[in-house]
Parts: sequence; C-alpha cells; structure tokens
Amino acid sequence: MGYRVVVDFDLCESNAVCMQVAPEVFEVRDDDFLYVLDETPGPDLRGKVDDAVARCPKQAISISED
Ligand code: SF4
Repeated sequence: MGYRVVVDFDLCESNAVCMQVAPEVFEVRDDDFLYVLDETPGPDLRGKVDDAVARCPKQAISISED
C-alpha cells in the first residue's frame, strides 16, 4: 500500500529537522523554503518519514495512506 507525504506549509518554519532525518524526501534550500523532493517515497523510506513526522517541532508533516 502506498502513502503520500503531506506538509502544511503554513505551519512549517523551515528548521530542517525533517531534512536531517530523511534527506531523500525533504530539502530546505537557500531560499529558506522546504521542498518535498518525493511526495510518494517507497516503503524503504517509510521509517525515516515516520521519524520526520514524529520529530517535526511544528507537527507540519502528515502521512496520507493511499
Ligand atoms: S521539521 Fe517540520 S517545521 Fe521543520 S522544516 Fe520540516 S516540516 Fe518544516
């Protein structure tokens, strides 16, 4: 079963915690905005994505189960 990474950009403060946990999926660029590199990462990255969800200090990341 697939899943989709959803970020609430109104909550995100671009502190890059998610990028430290899962750099394959999240990138904060020089413009200080967060970019989701892969909205539908494979199951191999699910652990890292779940970790990013748990550690985001703004609770800005959620998972939508497809
Ligand atoms: S950890 Fe949360 S607040 Fe920080 S950049 Fe990622 S989504 Fe934004």
